[in-house]
Amino acid sequence: MKLITSFDEMRDAVKEHRRAGDSIGLVPTMGFFHAGHVSLMESADHENDMVVVSIFVNPTQFGPGEDFEDYPRNLDRDMEMAEQAGADYIFHPAVEDMYPRPYLTYISVEDITEGLCGAKRRGHFTGVATVVAKLFNIIPADRAYFGLKDAQQVRVIEKMVEDLNFNIEIAKCPTIRESDGLALSSRNMYLNGEERSAAAILYRSLQAAGEMISRGERDASAIIAGINKLLDSEELIEPEYVEVVDYRLLHPLEELRGEVLIALAARVGKARLIDNLLINLAQSPD
Ligand code: AMP
Repeated sequence: MKLITSFDEMRDAVKEHRRAGDSIGLVPTMGFFHAGHVSLMESADHENDMVVVSIFVNPTQFGPGEDFEDYPRNLDRDMEMAEQAGADYIFHPAVEDMYPRPYLTYISVEDITEGLCGAKRRGHFTGVATVVAKLFNIIPADRAYFGLKDAQQVRVIEKMVEDLNFNIEIAKCPTIRESDGLALSSRNMYLNGEERSAAAILYRSLQAAGEMISRGERDASAIIAGINKLLDSEELIEPEYVEVVDYRLLHPLEELRGEVLIALAARVGKARLIDNLLINLAQSPD
C-alpha cells in the first residue's frame, strides 16, 4: 500500500491502473478508522481491482465552534488498518493544496440539505459536496463507498452525482455497530464511561420505533413520540432532532410509506452523535 499526498502522483497512479484495465474503488474518509470504515474498504476491495482510501479532515464541512481542531487523527494506525482491509493507496492531501487561497468555488446541493443535520449545521453539506466533488475529479473511480450511518450525506452525494453527471456509482454500505447497538463513530471517543453507556439508547429507541412499525404503526408523530420518550429517559442524552422523512426527498412524512428514514441527532457530553433506521415499506400491502 502506498501513501500519496500529491495530486499529480495520485492522478498518475489512477491513469496507470486505468491503462491496465483495472476498476477503481474510492473510499472517502476523515480517518481515525473503526470497523465502519473497514467495512467500506472491504466492500471496495471485493468489488474493484484497485482501492484508494482518502483521509482528509475537511475544514469546510465544520462550522464555527465545531470540532475541526479536536477531531481525532492517527495516520500510522489508519495506514495499518487500511492495508489490512485491502487498500492499495492512501490519498492524504494537505489542506493548503485542497483549498488554495483564495478558494472561491463551492458546490451547493439545495433543498435536501435544509432539514435534519443541515438545519443545525449550516454550510456543512456544501463542504461535504465540495470536497467529494474534488476527490471525484482527482480520483475518477468507478465506484465510491459511503456509509448509511450518514444517510443525509449519502443522499446529498447521490443527488450531486445525478445533477452534475459524475460518471461514478455510489455504493451505500450498512451501519456497523457496537454490541449494544451504538453506531461506530470516530466521535465516540469523546464519550466518558457513563456517556458511552447512555448512548446505547439512541439505537434502542430506533429499534423500538422499528418494532412499532412492525406492529402496524404508520403515524409519524406516534413514532417520534415513542423515540423521544426513550431518549428522555436518559439524563445524559440531549436530543437535537428526531424526524421521520421520505428517504429520497428527505421531506417530513405524516404517514409512513415507501422508503422511510427515521433519523436522530443528540448531544451526549462533548459528542454530537447521529443514527438512523431506513425502512422500506414499499412492498407492504397497505
Ligand atoms: P468519516 O470518516 O466519519 O467521514 O466517515 C467516512 C465514511 O465512513 C462515511 O461514508 C461514513 O458514512 C462511513 N461510516 C462512518 N461510520 C460508519 C459506521 N458505523 N458504519 C458504516 N459506515 C460508517
